[in-house]
Formats: sequence, C-alpha cells, structure tokens
Amino acid sequence: MEQFLNNKQLIYFLPLVAFAILAESLLYKWRYRKSYPWIESATSLGVGIGHQITGIINRLLIQGVMASFIWQYRIYTVPEAWWRYPALFLGLEFCYYWYHRASHEVFLMWATHSTHHSPNEMTLSAAYRLGWLPLLSFTWVFFFPLVLIGFSPIEVFTMLSINLMYQFWLHTKLIPRLGFLEGIINTPSAHRVHHASNPAYLDKNYGGILMIFDRIFGTYIAEDANTEIVYGLTHPNYSKNPVNVVFNVWKQLLKGIAQKKTLREKIRLIFSAPQ
Ligand SMILES: [Zn+2]
Ligand SMILES: [Zn+2]
Repeated sequence: MEQFLNNKQLIYFLPLVAFAILAESLLYKWRYRKSYPWIESATSLGVGIGHQITGIINRLLIQGVMASFIWQYRIYTVPEAWWRYPALFLGLEFCYYWYHRASHEVFLMWATHSTHHSPNEMTLSAAYRLGWLPLLSFTWVFFFPLVLIGFSPIEVFTMLSINLMYQFWLHTKLIPRLGFLEGIINTPSAHRVHHASNPAYLDKNYGGILMIFDRIFGTYIAEDANTEIVYGLTHPNYSKNPVNVVFNVWKQLLKGIAQKKTLREKIRLIFSAPQ
C-alpha cells in the first residue's frame, strides 16, 4: 500500500533507515565488488519525499474522509476481546494480499504500484519508492471492508503502517534464504522473487508480512538459487527523474485510453492486465 506512514512514525524510523542503507552500501561493495547504486537510491529518495507530501492529501481523503464515512455505516463493532488485534492482523493481511494482487493485474492500479517495481537493482531504498496517486488507483477500497465489519479507520491504517514498515528490510540482496521461515512469513528471498522480471517469477509472492495467503491462493514460489534475478519492470525504466518514474505508467495508460475508440474499449483497458 502506498500512503500510510505518517510523519510521527517516520521520525523514529528515518535514522534506522539511514543507518541500514549505509551498512548495506558498505556490504554491497564488499560482496559484489562494484559500486552501490547511489543514483538509483537518490531517485528513490526523491520519489519517497514526493510520496510523503502527496500522502498528506491521500491520508486526509482516504482515512479522514472516506473511511470515517464508512465507519458510520459499519455492520458490526468488533469488541475489546483478546482476539481483536490478531483478527485485525490476519484480516489486514488478507486484504493486503488482494490489494497487492489486483495492483499487478489491473492496469489502473498498476499505474501507481509500478513505481515501486521500477528500481533495476534490489536495495533498501526501493522500499520507499512508492507511487503518488493511490487515490486515483482505488487501492484503498480493498481495506474498507475491515472498517465496514467494525475495525476503526485509525486501527486499520495503523496496522497497514506496521505492515509497510515490516517490509523495509525485505528489499535487499544481502540477506540469504531464512530456512524454515520461507513460505511462512515474507522474507527478503520471497520479496526478491516478487521484484523479479524473470518470466517464471512474475506475479508471485504478494503477501505483506505472511506468505500463507500466497500458499492458499497459489501464488507462492521460492527463490531458486540457480536463477539469476533481473530486477525492475518488464519494460525497464532507466530514468533518474522521480517525476518520470512516478508518471511513466500513468502516461502509458492515458495514451492507451486515448487510442481506444469507444467508451467500452476505454473502460476495458483501464481494468485489463497491464501492457
Ligand atoms: Zn508488487
Ligand atoms: Zn517491494
């Protein structure tokens, strides 16, 4: 999901992020005997800053206005029982799985999510290369059922923030496979597969913290040690300009819509698989 790390959480998170990236850069140089992709990291930083700025409006409208509106019409209120947060955790993970899967399978949603998949190398900075227009991609509708069944908007979006923060450490090549945890929780190895453009790895491993819904719905695949991963989009974007990175697929979508003759064809393109 793209927009729910708020500024207060970031203050605690940022020094850790900076330290982790510095450590990664040193290890990367030592391990791969080549220089760390600082320019690509700087592009990601630019995208990440833009994501935070646009996130103010996204949060206000999605969490503050729309989710609060739906909360008034909830069909149930989840009681303060021991199972409340475990249920929210699992429920959010389920919604996250389908949000993420749809973001890869529906052109309109891919327009925002493709930004996250644009880095051509897997480093920690990829974690905050996130799209700016989730509002227009309707990504948020996947989380509203949780509000409708009685988890408050603030709880839902805080749990989503936790899910996103967890995913930071997944974006690196330096952490190997983690034994029995593979296939149960999301690991750097599982997420490397998710960021791969190798045909065998496309559209796999959608989970946020868990891999169990990928196992249930048939999208889990383990990393093969003998396959060299190619990171990035199937039509790679080598631009260093954050604005180009963010709007590249949006431009493709709009161009495609303009080329279609009838309204029916235009709508079909918007909901079709990305091209
Ligand atoms: Zn993805
Ligand atoms: Zn990722």
